[in-house]
Amino acid sequence: MDWYLSMPKVELHAHLNGSIRDSTLFELGRVLGEKGTINFSEVEHVILKNDRSLHEVFKLFDLIHIVTTDHKTVTRITKEVVEDFAAENVVYLELRTTPKRNDSIGMSKRSYMEAVLEGLRSVSVVDVDYAPHNLSSITDTCNGTVRKKIYVRLLLSIDRRETTASAIETVKLAMEMRDMGVVGIDLSGNPIVGEWGTFLPALEFAREQGLSVTLHCGEVPNQKEIQSMLDFFPERIGHACCFEEEEWGKLKSLKIPVEICLTSNIRTATISSIEIHHFADLYNAKHPTVLCTDDSGVFSTSLSAEYSLASSTFVLGKKEMFQLAKNGIEYIFANDEVKREVREVFDLAGRKLDFA
Ligand code: 5GP
Repeated sequence: MDWYLSMPKVELHAHLNGSIRDSTLFELGRVLGEKGTINFSEVEHVILKNDRSLHEVFKLFDLIHIVTTDHKTVTRITKEVVEDFAAENVVYLELRTTPKRNDSIGMSKRSYMEAVLEGLRSVSVVDVDYAPHNLSSITDTCNGTVRKKIYVRLLLSIDRRETTASAIETVKLAMEMRDMGVVGIDLSGNPIVGEWGTFLPALEFAREQGLSVTLHCGEVPNQKEIQSMLDFFPERIGHACCFEEEEWGKLKSLKIPVEICLTSNIRTATISSIEIHHFADLYNAKHPTVLCTDDSGVFSTSLSAEYSLASSTFVLGKKEMFQLAKNGIEYIFANDEVKREVREVFDLAGRKLDFA
């Protein structure tokens, strides 16, 4: 585990609110309980429960959103999440979040995202390169010592409960915020809710505007939707748990990179046991894959733990795991300049480890 902790890594599938620290969620829940906004004793066991079904996970997200959705808290969570990933040597993080509107506290989708940006700016323990040309990317020394640096780029998520108009609003916001590090769009939310046709106009619009798209695909058996999603030919997909032969064939021939979230899939029982996880088949077929956490807070995991788990389960050595992490650079949504710089970080680490 220590080795995977020290290895550089890229994280491409992390939901902001799902990555909240347990301690922060607990603390915020207790404060809202004291204020009488929620009944803390009723939700305490939900927060503390470890193995949740997919259905229970989405109930927990509703609770998390009640607890976290004000500007100050969004800023705090963003700061903590970036610090946590940086602490385990994630050198490039693509953080996704659903812009939320809450008229009662004067929150618009835009002001929600500005609170996220404020969180990125308030990280002090590490230099955060969160946008093309932002200042911290050129200050990598402090009192003569080289400071640790993490690249962070943002994906705006469309929740499957949203309407077409609301999804298009999110894409427009993403376009407006391109200079602030937004590089793409994600479709997520409860997979049994909503229809693919509702989101397609927004996703096509995103593509026309040059934004990259990743889709949560095949978390539940829905062959028609999986086929339509693959036909859309997204830049990446997440999960791919409930595919049948025909869809595997299509995915592999299209070479669409898959964001693999092992612990998440096991905890939510979308895959019945780790030994039969499709990661092994995709890896052996040399299909583009990248290991990710999904929701490190909700599933009590970390990216290092995911690498350690994959290594022990599928009997892969350190060199293979290092190469797997490095391959992830090819699937990031940031520009070629960032890819080149992140590759340099890996090359340097690889030379030290004699993997070059
Ligand atoms: P947020 O977008 O609020 O920062 O992160 C939490 C949200 O991400 C959830 O409400 C849900 O919409 C989405 N999400 C997190 N984990 C999963 C997952 O495993 N599957 C799907 N489909 N959506 C998820």
